[in-house]
Amino acid sequence: MQEQLDLWYKSRSGLYSAAPRTLGLAAAFDLLSKDRVSELVNNARRDIDKYAFQYANGNDALQQGIKAQHEIALDLYDQDQQAPIELNVEPGYSGPTPLAGRGGKNFTTVSAVLYSPLSRGRSHITSTNATAQPAVDPVYLSHPMDVAVLIGGVQATRKVLRAPPLNSIFVEEFEPGTDIGGSDKRVEAYIRNVAGGDNHEVGTMPMMPRSLGGVVDTELKVYGIYNVRIVDAGIIPMPISSHLAATIYMIGEKVRDPFC
Ligand SMILES: Cc1cc2nc3c(=O)[nH]c(=O)nc-3n(C[C@H](O)[C@H](O)[C@H](O)COP(=O)(O)OP(=O)(O)OC[C@H]3O[C@@H](n4cnc5c(N)ncnc54)[C@H](O)[C@@H]3O)c2cc1C
Repeated sequence: MQEQLDLWYKSRSGLYSAAPRTLGLAAAFDLLSKDRVSELVNNARRDIDKYAFQYANGNDALQQGIKAQHEIALDLYDQDQQAPIELNVEPGYSGPTPLAGRGGKNFTTVSAVLYSPLSRGRSHITSTNATAQPAVDPVYLSHPMDVAVLIGGVQATRKVLRAPPLNSIFVEEFEPGTDIGGSDKRVEAYIRNVAGGDNHEVGTMPMMPRSLGGVVDTELKVYGIYNVRIVDAGIIPMPISSHLAATIYMIGEKVRDPFC
């Protein structure tokens, strides 16, 4: 252990130099100009009813709930309090190209992860059989704010690699690839082609008032059903700027004492 620590302090090498991942959060104003964020917020406020209607899937109460969520998220954008993008630097390759297409090169991957989507997907049971898979439609990147911010995230990773200190070890960009230049449109096309979920789904059974389309109350009891509680990520009403596990442990801790 001491030997490895010495190596790290002396030459920044050894086991301590091999952090599996480095995560950073970017604020909206780190990614886009203030004017661009204002434009996106104004447009999203103007269209708030349209998108709430679209995402609510015919549920009038949920439409109000989604509208309330968007208002909260847009206020955060306005005040530059939103942390919409995670930049995730990890050794190795975790992109979309199969091994055979990677040309035997060594890789580091920087992923831009959208943390605060305004897009809202939907999930439904498909059968009365509890083991049947549900139908899930995440409707990724269906809100213009999400698209603009994720493009900003990808462009930020490209800039970071070309700026000190990483430019001293940066060799070349494999994806999206230098041939697309700085074009946001081409980055958007790339994202739409390859982007996927990051396993932090929430909100399938949101803790919200019933009048806003909520499914559980503040004691996590399902509305209208006697004594059934839900204690998992589904009750988190809207995306949070974090990975979920710690929050879910807290939900479990909170629910354990007063109710059981
Ligand atoms: C690949 C991957 C990597 C992740 N990495 C991280 C990370 O680094 N940090 C982080 O904070 N979060 C991470 N997450 C997210 C985190 O793991 C999830 O958000 C979290 O586990 C969700 O908790 P949950 O209790 O809602 O559901 P789950 O953890 O999925 O628990 C659901 C449980 O219900 C059980 N179950 C399902 N159906 C039935 C049934 N019919 N009867 C009985 N039991 C059933 C399942 O077996 C499972 O044990 C990751 C997720 C994935 C998929």
